[in-house]
Amino acid sequence: MTTTTTPPTLHVVQYSGGITSWAAAQRVAAQHGTDHLVLLFADVRAEHPDLYRFLDDTTAQLGVPLTRVADGRTPFQLFRDIRYLGNSRVAPCTYWLKIVPCRRWLEANADPANTILYIGLDASTRDRRRAPGITAGWAPWTVRFPLLDEPHLTKTDQLNWARTLGIEPPELYKLGFDHNNCHGLCIRAGIGQWTHAARVFPEQFAAAAAAEAQLRADLGDVAILTEQRNRVRHRLPLTVLCQRITDAGAAA
Ligand code: SF4
Repeated sequence: MTTTTTPPTLHVVQYSGGITSWAAAQRVAAQHGTDHLVLLFADVRAEHPDLYRFLDDTTAQLGVPLTRVADGRTPFQLFRDIRYLGNSRVAPCTYWLKIVPCRRWLEANADPANTILYIGLDASTRDRRRAPGITAGWAPWTVRFPLLDEPHLTKTDQLNWARTLGIEPPELYKLGFDHNNCHGLCIRAGIGQWTHAARVFPEQFAAAAAAEAQLRADLGDVAILTEQRNRVRHRLPLTVLCQRITDAGAAA
């Protein structure tokens, strides 16, 4: 008689470099250990250098090496290739630079029958609403959201939790950003965050404005940002936003 042994469950955390995916990984490690834990990071090659420091520190603390995947392009390189500028409503960079490389890794390394995928959504109403769509999108893998379990943690709770373990939180949070991604210059962010980024990271903002201007020259009237004027939505190029910030500074 032959006996079959069930392979151990693989626990794969989508590890972004943000504090919520870190907190999710901590909960998974506490519940399941680290022997079959994978920290899967999709590198979009546009991150703040401190994000990589945070990845190094936290993977060392967990004792789990980082599993890095990458398309190889930055978001703006992708936008040029597909001739579409991402914006707050449509983010092709998420799909091509994060989901596709992660899915390829899963297809090659993680049998859906014995793999659980973990995503670091927090317990906010907005994130809760996203959970069913994310679960459906990652089929056939099973998806769990450790931070939707109680006790619920605010972002401040998570940052303090990291500090108690001797982990210095990512620099972007200290600089006033809500998320640690794409150097604070995320196409999904609004005018407020881009204005903040222009002040905190003028060099990177200028590079993004130049890349957007090139795409506008190639594709026509496209822009990452829009604004409402007289109840009509208008595109707001980053160069225009930059001029407004400069003018406001001069008038102050
Ligand atoms: S963080 Fe924003 S800009 Fe960066 S890949 Fe994700 S959606 Fe695109």
